[in-house]
Amino acid sequence: MSKFQILVVEDDAPIRSLITTTLKAHDYRFVVSETGEGAVMETASHNPDIILLDLGLPDIDGVEVISRIRSWSNVPIIVISARSEDSDKIDALDAGADDYLTKPFSVDELLARLRVTQRRLALMQSNTTQQSTYENGQLKIDYASGCVYLGGEEMRLTPIEYKLLCLLARNTGKVLTHKFILQNVWGSSWEKDVGSLRVFMATLRKKLEKAPGSPQYIQTHIGIGYRMLKIE
Ligand code: CA
Repeated sequence: MSKFQILVVEDDAPIRSLITTTLKAHDYRFVVSETGEGAVMETASHNPDIILLDLGLPDIDGVEVISRIRSWSNVPIIVISARSEDSDKIDALDAGADDYLTKPFSVDELLARLRVTQRRLALMQSNTTQQSTYENGQLKIDYASGCVYLGGEEMRLTPIEYKLLCLLARNTGKVLTHKFILQNVWGSSWEKDVGSLRVFMATLRKKLEKAPGSPQYIQTHIGIGYRMLKIE
């Protein structure tokens, strides 16, 4: 898990030191920036593998930093935000962040997020060309025929469930907001439609997950959205 270079963007010295100490202890390489402008510059000059980005920076807003970086780079971005900033988290994800950590976070949480992101990165690198099939654990999607298999058995999905599953699969490892999913599956982003999204997600999970109460494939982010996890 070493050799990954991480850009740490955090103006708060104690948190920055917690992060860099953890990274050092786990053989990650890193560069540090205390400002948003610095983060954009470091990204351009160091080409990091992952960015850990605090949203509350002294100069420009973290969401603005994401938009600027996303104009030329797909580097995975994990945002760090305070618990009171739920809408900021959603804005950050909609601007192109992959994941988030909520302050205060533990070292274990930080390392877990990095592992999820490294898996996503590996997947992004192996999927440079559009793949015709998707495989994850027992799940297999054949995009050409539109057939989905679970442990070799064909799944019977409705067109909406299929669209939903494909969207999550194509973004494995990334947290997708309700708004993003609604726009991509239904072409709308009405807040009131989040209820229907939940209903479709529940029926999809009943078919996909062995124990829908403790899902293995699709993770819920309460108040934010969903993520397809890469099964090891
Ligand atoms: Ca801050």
